Amino acid sequence: MDTRRSRQIVIAGAGIAGLTAAIAFAKNGFSVQLFEQAPQLEDAGSGIQLSPNATRVLAHLGVLEHLIPSAVEPRAVVVREARKLRRLAEVPLGSRAEDRWGAPYLVAHRADLQTALLARAKREPDIRLVTGARLADAAFHPRGVTVSIDVAGDVKEAACLLLVGADGVGSTVRNLGTRDAAPNYSGFSAWRSTVRANGPLGQSLLEAMPADCVTVYAHKRFHLVAYPIRGGTAVNLVVIVDAKHAAARPGETGDTEVLARLMRGTAAPLATLAREAAPWSLWPIREVPPDHPWTGGASVALIGDAAHALTPFAAQGAAMAMEDAIMLANLVAATPDDIAGALARYEAVRRPRIKRVEARGRFNHFAWHASGPIALARNLILRGRSGRQLAAELDWLYGFDACQPPKSETKAAPPA
Ligand SMILES: Cc1cc2nc3c(=O)[nH]c(=O)nc-3n(C[C@H](O)[C@H](O)[C@H](O)COP(=O)(O)OP(=O)(O)OC[C@H]3O[C@@H](n4cnc5c(N)ncnc54)[C@H](O)[C@@H]3O)c2cc1C
Repeated sequence: MDTRRSRQIVIAGAGIAGLTAAIAFAKNGFSVQLFEQAPQLEDAGSGIQLSPNATRVLAHLGVLEHLIPSAVEPRAVVVREARKLRRLAEVPLGSRAEDRWGAPYLVAHRADLQTALLARAKREPDIRLVTGARLADAAFHPRGVTVSIDVAGDVKEAACLLLVGADGVGSTVRNLGTRDAAPNYSGFSAWRSTVRANGPLGQSLLEAMPADCVTVYAHKRFHLVAYPIRGGTAVNLVVIVDAKHAAARPGETGDTEVLARLMRGTAAPLATLAREAAPWSLWPIREVPPDHPWTGGASVALIGDAAHALTPFAAQGAAMAMEDAIMLANLVAATPDDIAGALARYEAVRRPRIKRVEARGRFNHFAWHASGPIALARNLILRGRSGRQLAAELDWLYGFDACQPPKSETKAAPPA
């Protein structure tokens, strides 16, 4: 049976995972209802790094062309130590990333990514996006799911073949359809700010860091990542700090004196940033370890942070969300009469990769927040490695093509 109703997909959450999944399912001939609890899609006000494994998905789905005009293609990722700004390592990007991994490494404002995803989604007549609509409940039947959607207190029902939970770290779908896995505070908080590149602060910052690079400043108490966004007119700053206690509310304005104390003793352009780049918004980082089930029978699947919210040390959360989205859609499309089998394959192919990314994040944390003899050893090892060697270590991550059927997938039809 392949009627229109039987090919109905409901997606909860119109973040990066949900919007990507909506486009991927629609491209595969499914009819998609995308419910977003927020009254309107708002930008998170900060930047995002999009590695080639992510931009490959965006290119395949026809999103990249909408993003390119506002994105920046950095020349390199440079790692420096924060006290003296000494360069420790440099991974070449730009055209060398495209040659090596077959897709560009970009940095962008999240709002620009969201606008690009939305612009592409609007071109699909089979995507219906409803904002101000919270997925509240779901009843699972042998032949599908009935979801309850709460729109300003008015609860409506919708039937579908498959419910996709793209509803982020605090996922409702995770608790309904698969075994409960509560998010934990990771012990890290992110401080975020954006400065104008042509203002006095932007100018003094650009004297300490190349304008066309992603620069990571390593320190035992934090690491700071700085990169250009919005065609180079702004610099995105994010400081990830070890913090025993989570901030009270995600996005609240941080106390600059706290950040200034954390960044004390670093090189002058960084030490002054805490006060001069204010206001900083403060985000407690929550994680959902990737060990719990991501699917339930033939009717529900989790993607993105709802399945596996990782700490941002590998800058891969959104990339993994996009990979999940396209792989899930292609696997379901390949065997629409065996959704349970498709979901089982989805978990089987995604889990090892997510765990490897999680391990890479742990390694980056160990290296970037190192102190004493470990930091000295790190500096020696990193300085001895060429850009080519460092890039080669990322081939498994950035060279991955989520748009193709997984290698173990012999039965799958060609992806849309
Ligand atoms: C400081 C920091 C820096 C990062 N940097 C990078 C980076 O450079 N590169 C990268 O790839 N990743 C990065 N990440 C990770 C990335 O931001 C996340 O992994 C990604 O945004 C997750 O997207 P998502 O769509 O799964 O979840 P979300 O963005 O959380 O979206 C979930 C959506 O679901 C909606 N929702 C929730 N509940 C319901 C419901 N019941 N019904 C309907 N809608 C609902 C929410 O309102 C939201 O819009 C970073 C993360 C942090 C914290």
